[in-house]
This record gives sequence, structure tokens and C-alpha cells, in this order.
Amino acid sequence: PSTEEQAILEAYQWLTKLYHHLLRHTKDGKKGLEYLYQRGYSDESIDTFQLGYSPQSKDFILQFLENKGFHRQTMVKAGLLTTNDQQNYVDRFQGRIIFPIRNAIGKTVGFGGRSINGQDPKYLNSPESPVFQKSKLLYNFDLARSEIRKKSEAILLEGYADVIAVHQAGAKNGIASLGTSLTDAHASILRRYVDTVLICFDGDDAGQNATYKAIKLLKNAGCTVKVANLPKGYDPDSYIQEFGATSFKENVLQASSSEMTFLINHLKKNFNLQHEGDRIRYVESIIGEIALLKSPIERDHYIRDLSDQFDLSYDALNQDLMSRIRNNS
Ligand code: ATP
Ligand code: MN
Ligand code: MN
Ligand code: MN
Repeated sequence: PSTEEQAILEAYQWLTKLYHHLLRHTKDGKKGLEYLYQRGYSDESIDTFQLGYSPQSKDFILQFLENKGFHRQTMVKAGLLTTNDQQNYVDRFQGRIIFPIRNAIGKTVGFGGRSINGQDPKYLNSPESPVFQKSKLLYNFDLARSEIRKKSEAILLEGYADVIAVHQAGAKNGIASLGTSLTDAHASILRRYVDTVLICFDGDDAGQNATYKAIKLLKNAGCTVKVANLPKGYDPDSYIQEFGATSFKENVLQASSSEMTFLINHLKKNFNLQHEGDRIRYVESIIGEIALLKSPIERDHYIRDLSDQFDLSYDALNQDLMSRIRNNS
């Protein structure tokens, strides 16, 4: 790495320690610590994930970094400092809970900062930098990797908070993309380690739409995809808070469904199935999805399902399927 990259990594390493120390041992950090406790995070989780707190001060971090000999311009490039209206250099994350984002070898390359006083935006993340490329990084991949290999399964989550809550609940193969949608690069990194990805995004429209997109990417990369059974209105973290770890594992993770079952339900939302024309268009869109399945046995299974559910001729559906498969290849 260049000396500038080296400096950025060193600054992140110093600040990871400093923010964690401030959270743990200072009066200022108490707000942050209490916030985390109240959300159900244990001391062990706080330490494992090196969570921290950045004090509500404009120049504390600037002073700290300058005392260590770091240049302002480099720290701006690193995303640690920003310039305010008065052209002063200020800490980007002041007053926020800090989630260090580690790369695949465990070095901090970015921070996620969550506001705890209602200030917008809720999350402020480090910008892209020479060491931080969001399209290739998965949160917690370094810690989760061995468990992902062992189980041959990764749990794909939406947020930092979810990864930590799921880890605390005993599922240590959880990872998340960083507030961006999943990319082809993410999918092919995952494919190197696992056959199966279990998607457990939030139970809201955004989460469901993101699930649809992630399924496409992951299937493209050659993964088997399952979708967790998270009820509407919850995310993994809030579900665990309300119903506990055991229920999460049994009723959400283990009660997952196949990607096709998800698609069948998800695509329904675009159609009014009371109308014959809509019903036919819906069935056609499902056949389009079935045509992408590799296994003839699976394809046949879902075609029979459709035929039963909509009282349509199996032969007609099958013909439609075959012509699509010919067109796809
Ligand atoms: P919390 O439980 O603390 O509210 P969350 O993970 O449930 O956090 P969501 O709103 O579901 O938050 O967002 C999921 C992820 O998307 C976050 O972890 C964060 O990475 C990203 N994100 C959310 N809001 C923003 C934002 N305003 N700017 C950048 N990234 C964001
Ligand atoms: Mn969400
Ligand atoms: Mn959420
Ligand atoms: Mn949440």
C-alpha cells in the first residue's frame, strides 16, 4: 500500500481504539453505552465488535489525530474529518455510536456512525476511500468466515445492528452489505465460501424489494438462496429483542422458504388476482422465473403447483415453460 493508504489505516486503527475507550470509560461515553444496553447489546458484543462513541466535540478528534502526526488532508480523504461552513476541520462522527467496519483481514477501513439523539441522518458512514470500497466489502466477513465455511451457509442481513444482534443470538455466520445494495462483487465473494445464502432483510417494502434484487444477483453467481421468515414490521434485531434468540432461530431462520416461494408471493403484489387478465400475466411472470431454474425436477414441481393453484392445464403451462427455456438458451 502507498504511504497515504498506510496512514489512513493507521488513523482508523487509532480511532477504533479511542472511540471504544471513550464509550467504555468516560463520562461522555455513558450516553452511548446506555443507549447500547437499552437496545440489548451485551458487554461481550460491544467488545467483540469494538463499538465506540465519538464525543460531541468539534476538535477533540482533530487534536488527537494531529498529535499523532496525521495530516488534515489525508484525514479528510479518509472520511474522518469534514470541513464545516466556517472551513474548520471537524469530526464527521461527533455525537454518534461508532460501528467499526473491518475488511477481510480484520483491519478497520471505515466507520458507521449512528445518531442517538434523533439527529438526521440516522446513519452516517465513511465515504469511499483508497481502503474502503463498499461494493466489495461485507460487514463482519472476517469474523463470520470460519462459521460460514463450517455451515456452508451465510446469513445476509441489512444492517450492522442486525449482524450484532444475530451474532449475540448465537448465529455467527451473519454478514451485511454496507447500506448499499448487494453487488455482483459481493455475490461472487460469497460464492467462493458458500453454497447457500439465507437472506434475512427487514420485514418492510424496502427489505422485500432488496430481497428480490439480491436473489437475482446471488442466483446469477450460482448460490442457492433461501429467504428467512421474518414477520412484517420487524427487522432481525427488533425481532430478537421482542421474541428472543430461540424464537428467532426456530421461527425465522429455520422456517425459511425457498427463493421460488418468496418470488411467488412477492410478484403477487403487482397484480390484482381477481382479474382474469392480471391472473394470466401473473402466472406468466412466475413461469418466467421457473424457466430460470436449473433443475427439471424443481421446475416440474412449481409448474404443478401453479396448475393446481390456478386451475390451469398442466400441459399448457409446461408448453409455455419449454418455449421460454428455448428462448433463454
Ligand atoms: P437501527 O436498528 O439502528 O435503526 P437498522 O440497521 O435497522 O438500524 P435500517 O434503517 O434498517 O437501519 O437501515 C439498514 C442499513 O442501511 C443500516 O445499517 C445502514 O448501514 C444503512 N442506512 C440506513 N440509513 C442510512 C442513511 N441515512 N445513510 C446511510 N446508510 C444508511
Ligand atoms: Mn431497513
Ligand atoms: Mn432495519
Ligand atoms: Mn433495526
